[in-house]
Amino acid sequence: MEVEYLSHGLPLADYQLTKADHRRQQEKVREHEWVQRQVAKFPTSLSEESKERLRQLLGPPVPAWKLHRWRLRLYCGHVIEATRIQDSPRPDEGICDEERCPECGLDPAVIVAFEPLGPVADPPPETSPPG
Ligand SMILES: [Zn+2]
Repeated sequence: MEVEYLSHGLPLADYQLTKADHRRQQEKVREHEWVQRQVAKFPTSLSEESKERLRQLLGPPVPAWKLHRWRLRLYCGHVIEATRIQDSPRPDEGICDEERCPECGLDPAVIVAFEPLGPVADPPPETSPPG
């Protein structure tokens, strides 16, 4: 399936924040604080069994060739690179619309503009189905 990757707010370096961006950032910060409060209620040490269950819930890591690279401009103004599942036509869908800024540490920082870069890795050569 061919995915048509979208871009928004180009050129990234000149992007001006909108009112909607400010509102989204404020909502994210509030959500984030709420999650932090819930996490703080958890017992500080998890048993190995619970950790294993969590790992299973999170699933296996996605292979590199199933990822797409994006250049993202974050709320703080920094432009970073990040990866997303290649099936997503845009990098800010669902719960993935924020990043922790590696430049200034802003966390969460909503994505305000983005452009697709390319696949992380080439797909492996065609293999015949097992059987
Ligand atoms: Zn930043």
